[in-house]
Amino acid sequence: MPELPEVETTRAALAPHLTGRVVTAVTLRRADLRWPIAPEIKDALPGQRIDDVRRRAKYLLLDTDAGSALVHLGMSGSLRVVPADTPPRVHDHVDLTLDDGRVLRMHDPRRFGSVLWQAPGTVHPLLAALGPEPLSDAFNTNYLYALSRGRRAPVKTFLMDQAVVVGVGNIYAAEALFAAGISPLRSAGRISRERYRRLVDEIRLVLAAAIRQGGTTLRDYVNPDGNSGYFAQQLSVYGRGGEPCPTCGRALKQASIGQRTSVWCSHCQR
Ligand SMILES: [Zn+2]
Repeated sequence: MPELPEVETTRAALAPHLTGRVVTAVTLRRADLRWPIAPEIKDALPGQRIDDVRRRAKYLLLDTDAGSALVHLGMSGSLRVVPADTPPRVHDHVDLTLDDGRVLRMHDPRRFGSVLWQAPGTVHPLLAALGPEPLSDAFNTNYLYALSRGRRAPVKTFLMDQAVVVGVGNIYAAEALFAAGISPLRSAGRISRERYRRLVDEIRLVLAAAIRQGGTTLRDYVNPDGNSGYFAQQLSVYGRGGEPCPTCGRALKQASIGQRTSVWCSHCQR
């Protein structure tokens, strides 16, 4: 599943190809994605110039005067910019034709992605309840410490709550907690301000490293320039249950926390 780093990598790669381009036509080969494609994509987007390509959590926003196309890649979605005469492959569901002879093409075998619409001056309901971006100034020690007081949930579950902070998925939560020396089982409300300071730093570091490397999770990731590649990030604990801890050599524990597989070192993480 594309995580925040993959979506940010996609945004950065697409932005130079899309910004300033006019959408001249929209082709929906299959509109029955799990979330129906918003009718405005067909009705309001053609003729509009893309002024900016932004990301919020795992959504991409293509901003125009008429509103913003809100792209979610779901489990298996990817985007490419290709010449308009490129024959579509199976699962190429949506084309936005651009005024430079190319198309932005959405590919999504499992169809959990969608293209929604945000009217100007409004916030789409899916974005309204989201916490701050993890790499923004709004995500800081004071924020996380204050919000965590009285919370009994394990800190890992707390971090993965999109209303607390967006984009800290299972991999990044596991890696940041390991780096910060905090047990994923510890109640969020029982962690000191000083330890949250360390955790905020480690969350930022792990996400920034993943963005630099293009994300970690998509084995057959196709980047918007059409190159495919598997961006292997060095992971210390995620996916390594039973293997030796990279710090102390003891076997890493694995268990389910909040229905998500979690791996940690019970010696190094307290
Ligand atoms: Zn250890």
